[in-house]
Amino acid sequence: MSYNQISFDIEDEIALIGFGKDTNLSMPIMNEECLRELRDCIEDVSKRQKSEIKGLIIHSHNDKAFMAGADINLIASMTTESEAAAGAETGQNIFNLIEDLKIPVIACVHGVCLGGGCELILSCDRIYVSDAGNTQIGLPEVQLGFIPGFGGTYRLPKRVGLPNALDMILSGKKILGKKAKKMGLANEVYPKENLLRMAKLNMFKKDKSKSLQDNLQDFAVDNFVTRKMIFSKARESVMKKTKGFYQAPLKILEVMEEGYGKGRSTYLSMEAQAFGELCMGSQSQNLQHIFFLMDNAKKYRGPKGEGEKTVVTTGGVLGAGTMGGGIAWLFADNGFSPIMKDIGVEALELGLKQASSNFKGAVKRRKMTPFEFEKKQRSITPTLSFDGFKNIDLLIEAIVENMEIKKKVFAETENYMRDDAIITSNTSSLSIEEMSQALKRPERFAGLHFFNPVHRMPLVEIITHSKVSPETLEVLYKWCLKVKKTPIIVKDGPGFLVNRILMPYMNEAMFLLEEGVDFKTIETACTNFGMPMGPFRLMDEVGIDVGAKVAKIIYDGLGERLKSSELGGKIAESGLLGKKNSKGFYTYDEAGKESGFNEDVKKFFPSNSKSMDETSIQMRIFLPMINEASFILDEKIVDKAETVDLGMIFGTGFPPFRGGLCKYADNEGLERIVNVMKDFASSVNADRYTPSPLLEKMIAEKIKFYDL
Ligand code: NAD
Repeated sequence: MSYNQISFDIEDEIALIGFGKDTNLSMPIMNEECLRELRDCIEDVSKRQKSEIKGLIIHSHNDKAFMAGADINLIASMTTESEAAAGAETGQNIFNLIEDLKIPVIACVHGVCLGGGCELILSCDRIYVSDAGNTQIGLPEVQLGFIPGFGGTYRLPKRVGLPNALDMILSGKKILGKKAKKMGLANEVYPKENLLRMAKLNMFKKDKSKSLQDNLQDFAVDNFVTRKMIFSKARESVMKKTKGFYQAPLKILEVMEEGYGKGRSTYLSMEAQAFGELCMGSQSQNLQHIFFLMDNAKKYRGPKGEGEKTVVTTGGVLGAGTMGGGIAWLFADNGFSPIMKDIGVEALELGLKQASSNFKGAVKRRKMTPFEFEKKQRSITPTLSFDGFKNIDLLIEAIVENMEIKKKVFAETENYMRDDAIITSNTSSLSIEEMSQALKRPERFAGLHFFNPVHRMPLVEIITHSKVSPETLEVLYKWCLKVKKTPIIVKDGPGFLVNRILMPYMNEAMFLLEEGVDFKTIETACTNFGMPMGPFRLMDEVGIDVGAKVAKIIYDGLGERLKSSELGGKIAESGLLGKKNSKGFYTYDEAGKESGFNEDVKKFFPSNSKSMDETSIQMRIFLPMINEASFILDEKIVDKAETVDLGMIFGTGFPPFRGGLCKYADNEGLERIVNVMKDFASSVNADRYTPSPLLEKMIAEKIKFYDL
């Protein structure tokens, strides 16, 4: 029989099934055809087992992946719980067939082996893995809001023990080859060239029996009390990490605990049922939506130019402050050996320290060896002069936030650089259009707005202006992807995209505080909505003085709708600046860790008090953000609602389970939102709460953000 997605051969009575035959796919995935072919193939092996076929090897021809997982499009196309559950059962039945074969089966894994791929290898007798860095095994389903549905939760504990299995399944983490062997997931680890040879050689050798330690572990888990403790600890850790916002990890725990010790078919039907339920739920639908947004963002879809494109091999950073140090680190970590220029030795030392603290963190977490650390740290060249600037392909400016200084510095710097080099600014609030006028070659200039801290925040806003060339945008977009960031293209305008939408988040919190609503209640209403930090904690992080300055720029540019309370300025003037001087709305210890509410800030709070329920607070804060997003879309600051949502999730940590700000608004119903806004417009403030013309238009036309 011949197949499209998999190869099937028999050599010396050993059958070989190889994924990745279809070279149109960059990596093999379990789509409908692949599953069908795999089933037919296994049924064929089953019929011929022990006669013509004495052993089976499952491997992959693709160098990147053994099996990247189930086709998300297939999952997204399911329309009912029962259809999804039946889909899971289809996969389960194939893997049961593999498990039930009476001949030895070895999986040879090189490259990523995720989701359905991981569940498949768990049904094999033995797992051989390659020692390559890209061999990573995992069950990431929880990140998409569902349970592994092809028997993964049933088989993994049997192989690696319950605690290890829970850790893998609840986190979705990926395990490297050597670690897989250490934890008992893989039987052997070999260089990739030897995988198949060793599998053939060892096919008919007897398996090593379990060690005494393994037997003791099994015995411990079989004890009801121990097992109960393991599950309750896992539940506690899930609640701590997710604050109970996510349904999938809790449902997974429920299935694994209730199903523990039950027979295969009973357990698997519980797993399939849970799969159907979860993946049809709104939370998983939102998480799947984000998966597609991220996937889309991996391709440059901006304007195309036919001109020559700068090849970026060397980076440059102007300013070795908070952001400059972080950006130098990003360059160095990705092999772009940057030059970092500042105007003082002390500042350079600080910048280098900032970079090294990022690298040291990686060494501590064993993501980098001390040797690599030394090499990367030494690849940053600190300087006070323009020496070497001719070698820079991409320069990122991160000096003081002052238009006149920036323009002067650009005009001077350009003289020391090649004509084909790209110059960018990391400004968070100044006009890129105006800055571009200081340059002789504005077509090779753009904004490149990183978020703080650079090594943690995935988003980069690429800010355009009237003269930027499409080639420059394309080079910047692709460079961002190369350094593993999520870029979005944003038109110049006050606050660009993310800071502009964040402004009402902070403004409205301040106004509520002024009205007498309790500080902690406002903060908690926002974290209970799913935001990673409340608005006051965020102001401390940004710097209360910086926040007030940016608020003024946005207000000057956009008018009364973005008016902010004067409280922020007053608090900053009193010397409470936030985390950077350890005193803001909260206090911070020497390591920058928050140490509690700052009583000193209380004197700025009003003496009256006003009670307000959590939902009203959330509506007061989040509805103006939705309104601002609609203004942004109307002004074509970004192209579509998807971009707003990517920006908000990756730039601010807007709760992913809500699918993004616009998706949330669409799910809640725009008409309902606009009605509440109109109430607020008459009872609170007309400037800040009047719905945008675009929102009114969408309601009249009965369309949503995602229909725009
Ligand atoms: P910072 O004050 O920490 O650092 C600025 C550095 O620039 C200082 O080391 C200073 O000595 C140096 N500098 C000043 N003039 C210079 C010159 N002519 N040549 C070289 N170096 C010079 O500032 P920061 O917080 O890192 O911010 C830098 C830029 O990044 C600003 O435009 C800011 O708006 C933007 N930004 C900041 C954040 C943030 O959270 N801090 C986030 C995004 C963007």
